[in-house]
Amino acid sequence: MLDLAIVGGGPAGLTAGLYATRGGLKNVTMYEKGMPGGQITLSSEIENYPGQGEIVSGIDLMASWPAQCMRFGLKHEMAEVSKVTKTENGIFELEVNGEKIQAKSVIVCTGSNPRRSGVKGEEEFFGKGISTCATCDGFFYKDKEVIVLGGGDTALEEAHYLAKTCSKIYLVHRRDEFRASPVMVEKVKNTANIELVLNSVIEEIYGDKMGVSGAIVADKQGNKRDIKVPGVFVFVGMIANNELLKKEDGSFLCDMDDQGQAIVDLKMKTSMPGLFVAGDLRIDASRQVVCAAGDGATAALSAMAYLEGVK
Ligand code: FAD
Ligand code: NAP
Repeated sequence: MLDLAIVGGGPAGLTAGLYATRGGLKNVTMYEKGMPGGQITLSSEIENYPGQGEIVSGIDLMASWPAQCMRFGLKHEMAEVSKVTKTENGIFELEVNGEKIQAKSVIVCTGSNPRRSGVKGEEEFFGKGISTCATCDGFFYKDKEVIVLGGGDTALEEAHYLAKTCSKIYLVHRRDEFRASPVMVEKVKNTANIELVLNSVIEEIYGDKMGVSGAIVADKQGNKRDIKVPGVFVFVGMIANNELLKKEDGSFLCDMDDQGQAIVDLKMKTSMPGLFVAGDLRIDASRQVVCAAGDGATAALSAMAYLEGVK
């Protein structure tokens, strides 16, 4: 039986593993369905991680984390955890590839995934001209025009990044005020090849069997514009990855808010003893790498204190 199971290998999960194993826990496994690193590896430019003097990509920022975090005995299983339950004797059970793994405590750090916009044509052309990752797909549009949809930090940061490769960016946002930080808004406004298309929505993304060829954009007055582009980048927020905590009856293993984010206290404790949630999946997350890492450390210390009580 594991002392501690960690689900998710982003900044929160990796840091939880580092603190738990360096703190002396011997039997700790981190389950990560992909490569460790988390959603920040989708980002092309990070300039707010302390100690990082230069702007780096998410992949570069996270490159050294797994080796450091596994130095003290953290085991990594590349596998998806489909469910976490708690048995009557207080032990947790994780469903991993059809197998049941038992653990005395669990830290869930499954973060979030890009949200779909619901625009007509999005499903049809997803992966054929529609993308949620500028680092991954930006190069395909070198010297071409693209649309970026959204008004948050992700949309503006990625528009700014794409502006270096693409000839022009149409930044389409449904309001005339941005959710993104003022510093990011300034950067975008000062970038010559980004055109702000505000108070506007994409009505339809169209194309043919080769992929996207354009989008119909409408403003609040109903004026329509046909913007001919081969690529549309959608950055309209994130959805909490909480499925693994959902019970048969639709309720959750621990208390959640109406956004599906786990309610935790300052020690990352949920309403279920022995279950901790850290990083973007928790309520009031600042959605920053540095904060997710801090949460992971806190959750590991709390799990160790819990285990001292149950050992
Ligand atoms: P995540 O990073 O989301 O990691 C969760 C991990 O869990 C993933 O690796 C996922 O594969 C795994 N997982 C999910 N479900 C399961 C499962 N059932 N079983 C096993 N594994 C599972 N923050 C900054 O500080 N600065 C920035 O400049 C910045 N830029 C960003 C740019 C973009 C494009 C995006 C999307 C985010 C950005 N962020 C930035 C936010 C930052 O990436 C997140 O706050 C941070 O990654 C959250 O860490 P986390 O560990 O909580 O979750
Ligand atoms: P976000 O802050 O939730 O912004 C989503 C944007 O998409 C909003 O502008 C929203 O419009 C728009 N939107 C939502 N649904 C839409 C739809 N169906 N059609 C069109 N537009 C839609 O999401 P995010 O930008 O991905 O950021 C997520 C979190 O990560 C935030 O907390 C952010 O601060 C953080 N983050 C931080 C950094 C950084 O620190 N450098 C970088 C990236 C992300 P409205 O504004 O009108 O609601």
